Amino acid sequence: MSVGSLRQRQSPLAGAGTQLQILESVPVPSFQEKLEGHGLSLQAAEIEILQVNVGKLCNQTCAHCHVDAGPDRREIMERPVFELCLDALDRIRIPKVDVTGGAPELNPHFRWFVEQVRERGRHVIDRCNLTVLLLPSQAGLAEFLAQNKVEIICSLPYYQQRETDLQRGSGVFERSIEALRKLNHLGYGGDGSPLTLNLVYNPVGAYLPGAQKQVEADFRRTLLKKFNVSFNHLYAIANMPISRFLDFLIRSGNLEGYMERLVNAFNPAAVEGLMCRNTLSVGWDGRLYDCDFNQMLDLEVLRGVELRGLDRLLSEPPMENASRFFVSSRLRGGSGAVFTTKTRRRKEFCGFEPIQSVSLRRNLVAGKTCHEFHELFQRNRALHKENLSQRRSA
Ligand code: SF4
Repeated sequence: MSVGSLRQRQSPLAGAGTQLQILESVPVPSFQEKLEGHGLSLQAAEIEILQVNVGKLCNQTCAHCHVDAGPDRREIMERPVFELCLDALDRIRIPKVDVTGGAPELNPHFRWFVEQVRERGRHVIDRCNLTVLLLPSQAGLAEFLAQNKVEIICSLPYYQQRETDLQRGSGVFERSIEALRKLNHLGYGGDGSPLTLNLVYNPVGAYLPGAQKQVEADFRRTLLKKFNVSFNHLYAIANMPISRFLDFLIRSGNLEGYMERLVNAFNPAAVEGLMCRNTLSVGWDGRLYDCDFNQMLDLEVLRGVELRGLDRLLSEPPMENASRFFVSSRLRGGSGAVFTTKTRRRKEFCGFEPIQSVSLRRNLVAGKTCHEFHELFQRNRALHKENLSQRRSA
């Protein structure tokens, strides 16, 4: 069952503020409490991935979409913002660029950007919904990706038609299989091939994914046997309780139960590997975020700081005296988000750290309230300004 975008339906949930308020009202333990309970803390790592969300335009309107993407969305990254991304890559050693959307390939600058990034010797990941590869307007897209050795991470919620079409729309499963075969034909997903094809599995209802290894084995066996399709790896992720999946949870009366399941599935062993520790997310308009999920909730790393502000941020001295805190929110499905101040100028761009993962239910973190976040955020900004002015007058 495909649905229209929240924006199109004029749903109150189309606004990030309403989503935050609803999530805030769910009584679950904080992320901080979870960490402390396990004697853990979170530390920033090197930025290894620049994730670029090139817009909300998509050829599908999947029921669980955290972007609220669809054919009706018109927000797309324009050329000047792409150029700022390239400029950042020219000055900062970030080895991977992860291009996402919407359907990122529908952005008219997509192929040019991929070529530019590849010319700079960086690895490119394309978050592909598969069906876009078959659109008449996208002729030659699969071949283009292969020629540029782009890694493809594609969504396939299940290896059965019913579940996939329920989540992603009628006919999507069949077209996805056709697209996978096309990619296999080009060399994607083969043993020893340099063309990497990874799948993403996410549950179709208000439940958490099973063990990734088992799910991967089931997918591998079934796709090969029934459809002669092969792939490299599978990521099993939980759905983020935001945007259209939040809408579904509320409508089906599952919100509290789902959040409880997420909290109870917290796995301390996964904290170290949270992918957002090494990722910086760029929005279609050039604003910066800890992750794609925070991007959709309009939770910027630092209000008003975008790619254009990089030079200023890079030239600022380390924040030696800045206190470190985390604030996480309880809106993170399958994982969570945490913000920490930088005590050193390590994560080049901003005063806050990305600690967010889209990975498994094991990664759940939940957190403090939105009000607490804003309060701490304001305090930290004030402290940062104070440190800077002290340093300038010294
Ligand atoms: S989940 Fe992906 S394919 Fe589906 S509507 Fe959202 S962006 Fe498009």
